[in-house]
Amino acid sequence: MALSKLENLYRQVILDHSSHPHNQGTLEDSSHHTELNNPTCGDVIHLELQTEDGVIKDIAFSGHGCSISTASASMMTEIVKGKTIEEAMDLAEDFSLLVQGKDVKDIEMLGDAGMLSGVSKFPARIKCATLSWKALKKAIEESETGVAETGFIKHED
Ligand code: ZN
Repeated sequence: MALSKLENLYRQVILDHSSHPHNQGTLEDSSHHTELNNPTCGDVIHLELQTEDGVIKDIAFSGHGCSISTASASMMTEIVKGKTIEEAMDLAEDFSLLVQGKDVKDIEMLGDAGMLSGVSKFPARIKCATLSWKALKKAIEESETGVAETGFIKHED
C-alpha cells in the first residue's frame, strides 16, 4: 500500500517531533505536575505546567516513550502553551475524538497534533497518542481539587 503525499508529509512531521521534541525537560517553577504511564506500550510521561491567571504560561515534559507518544507530547505542549486552561481542555477533547476517527470542530486548532489523525487506523497506538493529553487533563484536574497539594494521587484505569 503506497503512502499518499499527504501521509508522507505527516510521517515526516511526526518523525521530526519524535527525534527533536519541543518543550522536553523540566521547569524551574511549576504550578501543576503529574506522571502518567501507558502500560500497553511502556510509555511514561512526567508533565509540568506553570499557569498564571488561568493561562498556561509554560509547559515541559520528560520521561520515556515510543516515537508516537513522544511526538504527541511535543505537539501537545507546543499547541497548549499560551492557551487558557479551558481552551487546552477543549483541545484535549478534540484530540481524543480525532484519534478515534471521529469528526472534530476545527482540526486546524490542533496544529501539528492534527497530523496524528492516522493513528485512528492503529487502535494499539491510540493510547500512545493520547497519553500526554491525558496527563495534561490529570495535572489540571488534580490541582483544581487540591489533590496534588496533599501529594496523594488518585489512580484511574
Ligand atoms: Zn507508545
